[in-house]
Amino acid sequence: MGDLNKLTIGAARDKLRARDITSVELTQACLGAIEGASALNAFVHNTSEIALERAGAADQRLAKDDAPGMCGIPIGIKDLFCTKGVASQAGSAILNGFKPEYESTVTQNLIDAGSVMLGKLNMDEFAMGSSNETSTYGNVVNPWRRGDDTADLTPGGSSGGSASAVAADLCLAATGTDTGGSIRQPAAFTGITGIKPTYGRCSRWGVVAFASSLDQAGPMTKDVRDGAIMLGAMCGHDPKDSTSADIAVPDFEAALTGDIKGKKIGIPKEYHMEGIPGEIEDLWADGVAMMKDAGAQIVDISLPHTKYALPAYYVIAPAEASSNLARYDGVRYGHRAKLAAGEGITEMYEKTRAEGFGHEVQRRVMIGTYVLSAGFYDAYYNRARRVRALIKKDFEDVFAAGVDAILTPATPSAAFGLGEMNDADPVQMYLNDVFTVTVNLAGLPAVSVPAGLDKQGLPLGLQLIGRPWEEGDLLNAAYRLEQAAGFVSKPAKWW
Ligand code: GLN
Repeated sequence: MGDLNKLTIGAARDKLRARDITSVELTQACLGAIEGASALNAFVHNTSEIALERAGAADQRLAKDDAPGMCGIPIGIKDLFCTKGVASQAGSAILNGFKPEYESTVTQNLIDAGSVMLGKLNMDEFAMGSSNETSTYGNVVNPWRRGDDTADLTPGGSSGGSASAVAADLCLAATGTDTGGSIRQPAAFTGITGIKPTYGRCSRWGVVAFASSLDQAGPMTKDVRDGAIMLGAMCGHDPKDSTSADIAVPDFEAALTGDIKGKKIGIPKEYHMEGIPGEIEDLWADGVAMMKDAGAQIVDISLPHTKYALPAYYVIAPAEASSNLARYDGVRYGHRAKLAAGEGITEMYEKTRAEGFGHEVQRRVMIGTYVLSAGFYDAYYNRARRVRALIKKDFEDVFAAGVDAILTPATPSAAFGLGEMNDADPVQMYLNDVFTVTVNLAGLPAVSVPAGLDKQGLPLGLQLIGRPWEEGDLLNAAYRLEQAAGFVSKPAKWW
């Protein structure tokens, strides 16, 4: 019965329903794996008591044959989700000690589906970052290494804890969130599947806000089928979030036939960017060939405003962040700075925010405040919003011309070494999002699928972008790509 933690959701579900295993056994296997993996620093708050209690309840549901797909499945939850009575810090010191009185809608949906929370997962502070180095808990380590080189690599970010935990089989799956790529980039860096659904598919209620018009929750899983199962459990209309869409949730798993004959797959010429390594271009070309072999029709397309996506994102996201983060003032949540005699409320705000926010978050708040300031609002924020509308229209035009999905690389490189990116030049780090931010700006669904290894033995991902609300079709294309790529590699265990 060993290695239950290595199961996929799909396999575990079938074994649970057949009574071959119990959720308690499965949960204990994961808790054991977590205990042995502190070197990865993926889990930052363990909730083993809650886990065993929920596993027991799931076993009872299973015994009564009342078992949705996620029933009894042990998962990790990104620290960005508010979980009732359990530390929820968004990777930030400013939320030290914060234990919400409420449960986010997505995690409540997962509880209702019978899943088992193992603990909270490390992440970049307030989901700002691409390497998990901005977390107050310290960085996460990628279970993958470059051949025999023992240097620690980043799992990507901001959902790096989620990615590392799933890749190292500490849990069967994890929640992530994606504002500019934070599900897809870490998924690509760790050889797992990451889905960012259409904006409005998953409720944002109870998810600590970064950039509200871009943030979406999604599943990070070992394969596409698991992503389909878990996404179905996470999403759905929520009256508590005014941007949550009142659109029926189809059975995403049922859409996975693997048949993509006649589907039009668009290849955007603007994604052949300067400086992208040959290995990434080759992987992309392999992906195109795989889709073609599967009977898809490959069409060259143009998304002309692509090159403005990153600059527009790095105006809009900080603008929204600066407004969202104004609430952390030392009064309502978490950390409050100690004051010297004679200091008043202004000093309290200033000191609290200086002590509680890390470097990158402070940078974003400053940029955001600047681009929203009276004198610069039109020059930056409004212009970025206009660019965003054009980027969205690029996609609309392509879909109107009959394209079903768009295939691109997920990231411009494989996982890089921790500390390798220079903090003095944040733009280097921002370039990680070059293939992913367009999707958030346009509100589209996209999935990152592991598709190969680079010459150092590190995983690389391909991204498929779909039509809004058509996650079923998108996941089916991803499922076909997954079958064709046949990616089965796992990191060699060293931790
Ligand atoms: N890396 C991007 C950023 O730092 C995206 C983060 C995210 O998707 N949450 O903003």
